[in-house]
Amino acid sequence: MSDLNQQMAARYQNNFLKEIEEQAEMGEWVKMCMQCGLCSGSCPTHFQDAWDHAPHEIFMLIRAGKRDEVLQSQGMWMCTSCYNCYVRCPRKVPVTHLMHGIAEYAYRLGRSPKAQTTQHLSKTFWDNCTETGRVNEVKLTRTLYFKDGFVAGIKKAIAMQSAAFGLVKARRMNPLEAIGIAHKCKDIKGIHAMLAKAKELEARHKAEKA
Ligand code: SF4
Ligand code: SF4
Repeated sequence: MSDLNQQMAARYQNNFLKEIEEQAEMGEWVKMCMQCGLCSGSCPTHFQDAWDHAPHEIFMLIRAGKRDEVLQSQGMWMCTSCYNCYVRCPRKVPVTHLMHGIAEYAYRLGRSPKAQTTQHLSKTFWDNCTETGRVNEVKLTRTLYFKDGFVAGIKKAIAMQSAAFGLVKARRMNPLEAIGIAHKCKDIKGIHAMLAKAKELEARHKAEKA
């Protein structure tokens, strides 16, 4: 177990609901769920196999103290932020935000599923766009295509070549981005300073909660 995970497990001593309420964004809403299942029934993606637990099940598991089962669940990572659940919940539970809040907490503790696709995409996208303040599509695509190895990457690139040529032809993608000659924001230093400040504020906020 990671240090933070051990620390939190010891601190909350099987009171996982309290842990989520205090540590996950909007976690205080979990107790408002009355298990009607409307959120899961409205979710356009929850029938996919990777949803090991639908949203209302995750809330019930939290209340039942199933810490490992929730933190290691793929469920929260499958949310596409369509907000169907959020607008339909009769208790006004912010289900979408909870899915992301619980996923982020699992990631922070080092307990989220390894090689989880959404997690990988999210981190890759963030690293890419914060480097220059704009997304470098070529680098992003390359990183995603080759994440499962060289051969898999080449196969994906060949499969998508006509789409890539179409994008280049329509000037929607610049091949020079592959060597770093990409569109950039004018004030990169300013953007990095802003991100550093946001990171500092977030760390302070989390430290206050910890
Ligand atoms: S719709 Fe709301 S109250 Fe019903 S199960 Fe989902 S979160 Fe709970
Ligand atoms: S916001 Fe997420 S959990 Fe809610 S219905 Fe959409 S995909 Fe499902």
